[in-house]
Amino acid sequence: MIVILLGSPGSGKGTQCKRLADKYGFQHLATGDIFRAEIAAKSSIGAKAQDYLKAGKLVPDSIVIEMVAGKIDPGGKYLLDGFPRTVDQATGLAGMLKRVQANINLVVNLTLPKDEAIRRMASRRTCSGCGEVFNTITRPTQVEGVCDKCSGKVVQREDDSEATSAKRLMVFEDLTQPLVAYYRSESNLVEVDASQNPDKVEAALSAVIDAAKGGA
Ligand code: ADP
Repeated sequence: MIVILLGSPGSGKGTQCKRLADKYGFQHLATGDIFRAEIAAKSSIGAKAQDYLKAGKLVPDSIVIEMVAGKIDPGGKYLLDGFPRTVDQATGLAGMLKRVQANINLVVNLTLPKDEAIRRMASRRTCSGCGEVFNTITRPTQVEGVCDKCSGKVVQREDDSEATSAKRLMVFEDLTQPLVAYYRSESNLVEVDASQNPDKVEAALSAVIDAAKGGA
């Protein structure tokens, strides 16, 4: 089963994917997380990607598609978070899936007003050790700057700065938003209101996944 989560930066894709991966046994494939890990490991992909991430731009499609292609096995259960992000990536994914005779079962569009996305990115903090996501307003760490889970250092992601998050939202609107129309005609696309609290968003997502499983 393959489920794609679309939604602006700050819409909670990562948080929800972690919850749903645990609940349903999906593999969570988050291209942003993979790039951050590659950059931390100083790999060749990391070296190619780092300037783009820092600037809030998209990594070129060819690099992303090649990286993802090696990670999708036929018959696997995947939650795709942050990929595809352009129409070319979506057609690349369609080609990849056709070759392994797999299908996209569900595409969820997490909707969130822009001003709320900006607020969430400004207050988001991330553990540099384990990647756990906190929020200075809604989910502060117990000890300031220290991860509740692994005691790693909790920081603001470089691209969550005010200027870079505004840039990321513009890139999202130009290049990723068109995927909503693409998947509305190509696949089973469902919208979920991401402005609700995380438990409610999780419940709504679980309901649409259960419905898609029934129809799969
Ligand atoms: P968010 O969804 O909050 O913007 P991500 O962690 O998904 O954050 O992505 C962070 C950055 O990683 C993006 O701004 C971009 O530079 C890069 N990136 C992640 N996924 C892709 C992708 N599919 N295509 C191109 N660049 C990507």
